[in-house]
Amino acid sequence: MKADEKAGFSPNKHNCTDKYANETGLKVYGHGKPVRLFAAGLHGDEWRDTTEILMKIEPPEKGTLALIPLVKRGEYTSTLDPAYYQVMGLSILEAIEDLNPEIYIELHSYSRENLEKLAGRDRLERTGVPAYSVLKAGVLLGSVSPWIRRKYFPKEALCLSFEVQKGNSRSREFAASMLEVLKETESRDEFVEYLRKEFPEQARKAIEDYRRFYGEI
Ligand SMILES: [Zn+2]
Repeated sequence: MKADEKAGFSPNKHNCTDKYANETGLKVYGHGKPVRLFAAGLHGDEWRDTTEILMKIEPPEKGTLALIPLVKRGEYTSTLDPAYYQVMGLSILEAIEDLNPEIYIELHSYSRENLEKLAGRDRLERTGVPAYSVLKAGVLLGSVSPWIRRKYFPKEALCLSFEVQKGNSRSREFAASMLEVLKETESRDEFVEYLRKEFPEQARKAIEDYRRFYGEI
């Protein structure tokens, strides 16, 4: 399969976003360890606020950086749905199987009115996954879907999901700055240290969620 087909583009469909067709499939920069994989535009119209952020990232100084700027647009299936990665997100699974990343980042976007749903304390009860933490400029930090975390990554991998606020340029800029840090990060522990310094409260929650997920608390 060609990369542009993997990203959800079919040659028969032409519309205003086709200018991206050759640029949004899997792109791999650099070589060697650590291997990082960033994915954006995972479903629905989320590509509008996230795809360009990945398209602007420059190669890392060390190691490998793999990017999927647009996984799939159009329909919306939640990544908490077990079918997501088998169907819409298949290009993510293929990249994970090929590259074995130790750092995996998803970039999502959300509407301001859904903030409470994502970051409210009752999210764990409602959905079985922990609430997101608010970082800065409306950017939220959370875990990736358990469907992909447990089956495709070793325990020591760093797997995070960021939510950018739709239509908020400061939010996009801040998310881009987090990815700049992550693209040079060498390990999970190095990033956790960074987070502890810059965002102690959110770091504490991320560590607690991680331990809960692996049954350590
Ligand atoms: Zn999403």
